[in-house]
Amino acid sequence: FFRQNRLPHLWCPGCGNGTALKCIAQAIEGAEGFTQDNTVIVSGIGCSSRGSGYMDFDTVHTAHGRAIPFATGIKLARPELNVIVITGDGDCTAIGGNHFLHGCRRNVDLTVILFNNNIYGMTGGQSSPTTPPGKNTTTAPYGTIDRPLDACRIAEAAGATYVARSTAFHVKHLTQMIAGGLADHGFALIEAMVHCPTAYGRKNKMGSPAAMLEWMRDAAVMKTAWDKLPPEKRTPEKFPIGLLYACEGEEYGKANAEIQRRAGGL
Ligand code: SF4
Repeated sequence: FFRQNRLPHLWCPGCGNGTALKCIAQAIEGAEGFTQDNTVIVSGIGCSSRGSGYMDFDTVHTAHGRAIPFATGIKLARPELNVIVITGDGDCTAIGGNHFLHGCRRNVDLTVILFNNNIYGMTGGQSSPTTPPGKNTTTAPYGTIDRPLDACRIAEAAGATYVARSTAFHVKHLTQMIAGGLADHGFALIEAMVHCPTAYGRKNKMGSPAAMLEWMRDAAVMKTAWDKLPPEKRTPEKFPIGLLYACEGEEYGKANAEIQRRAGGL
């Protein structure tokens, strides 16, 4: 699923984006009804959004923050296609935040994979909406003071039908979470926590890529265990991974039937 005979990728050594991209390829490989001919990959702008160009599918590398509306247009015009979006935390939750909200609300059948490295990597290490408090960035040299956005909670509240999170450390698990999103018939969000050793790691003295992976391993708590944690133990340094939300039932079926009817009628 990766393009051959192309220039090598531009990701830094040890970047987590490659791992997450491999997980996407593996999930597509095992997904029923997904082929290179009927699958489109759409991305915005940022380090992770370069991923679309490395994959051997019909791909569209769009403008900053605009991957979701581009993908919505493709799905409405060609409902028989499988449409996957690759986006980053800046691309999806800052400049594309409004599109993200309304994409969830419209519940068009897209699978959005949000590579969250907690920073703007490509443009020089500025704070993004998901940068944890206290972390150093080029725009917050004394530590970020804003509270971070939780994209998964926002997606659920705004109407997404499948919401999951995993990390670049949990390769099998991340692949499973993406596979679940591909099987969903509504707006699916999978947040892939990825490490950025260059912009985020260096600024915060987080050591090697391996050390960052260990941090991710220790910060991630399986949802089943997370649900049993008392509130005081759900500290900002920890986050739940797993299937966080899945819409089921009659209403879900009705909503999707209506979307398919409208899309088919265009
Ligand atoms: Fe990866 Fe960070 Fe380098 Fe971008 S700046 S390629 S996210 S390590």
